[in-house]
Amino acid sequence: MKIAMLARNPNLYSHKRIKEAAEARGHELQIINTTRCYMNIASRRPEIYYNDEKLPKFDAVIPRIGASVTFYGLAVLRQFEMMGVYPVNESVAIGRSRDKLRSMQLLARDGIGLPVTTFAYDPKQTDEVVKVAGGAPLVIKLLEGTQGIGVVLADTDRSARSVIEAFRGANINILVQEFIKEAGGSDIRAFVIGGKVVAAMKRTGAEGEFRSNLHRGGHSNVARITPEERSTAVRAAKTMGLNVCGVDMLRSNHGAVVMEVNSSPGLEGIEKATGKDIANQIIEHIEKSAAPGKTRTKGR
Ligand code: ADP
Ligand code: GLU
Repeated sequence: MKIAMLARNPNLYSHKRIKEAAEARGHELQIINTTRCYMNIASRRPEIYYNDEKLPKFDAVIPRIGASVTFYGLAVLRQFEMMGVYPVNESVAIGRSRDKLRSMQLLARDGIGLPVTTFAYDPKQTDEVVKVAGGAPLVIKLLEGTQGIGVVLADTDRSARSVIEAFRGANINILVQEFIKEAGGSDIRAFVIGGKVVAAMKRTGAEGEFRSNLHRGGHSNVARITPEERSTAVRAAKTMGLNVCGVDMLRSNHGAVVMEVNSSPGLEGIEKATGKDIANQIIEHIEKSAAPGKTRTKGR
């Protein structure tokens, strides 16, 4: 097959591994820098140009679109979809997952466990928001944050109110969440491919840090997850419509709660923690799924 991967940095571990895995299975994989594509959307024959040349017809496209280029990246991915190329994750599903608030509303509708989460627009409603979220300790997070930046733990109602007022006063969108203390600074990342959990790891934050992000000095180990956690991860992936994703969960007193579903999950942490060849499984998933006309939404 001819596979395109939309990515900006070809040297990232995940991108190198996916390319290696595709080539090892006899496919051709071209890494395309999303931001250097330009498109012809005027005619009935959608085209994509790259480095002054029209891109050939691909059988599948692997989107690895960074959060900072979501808007343009999704437009390029939609163009591939309109050309009938099988997307490992569809543009609409990625768009959904990039909006934390929308994601939580969809997950809640499907009865998936979530931390108690509140959201308000008007800083005047701060007192009510703190009350509805269950009072301190509370976690306040930027809607647009990544890598644990912009995730704040407020120990008292008073500090929670000041943080909320500061963010909302600056017109920054936030979520206010119950603090799952019993998670003990750890979370579970379940890696889902084609509706199955193929690997899971437990990430634990550095000493004294409630955030388990690897970028914040955390470390990861292989995790044994319960059947309930497995089913929560699979259902979350299905709700989001993502074929390949990382489902981040916290182990709370009221069962596994989903924090986030990541549509471009990194491979390094999970492959190293579990010893599994995730890149190969992504390519196998494409082999099973990619056929002309299989794109359901065609970017609509
Ligand atoms: P990001 O998307 O920036 O990584 P997350 O929402 O995943 O932000 O939060 C970062 C980390 O903070 C999580 O991995 C988790 O360890 C911790 N965390 C986030 N929300 C909560 C919460 N409600 N209760 C306890 N810990 C949390
Ligand atoms: N960047 C995330 C972290 O610091 C992990 C990468 C991913 O798997 O999405 O934990």
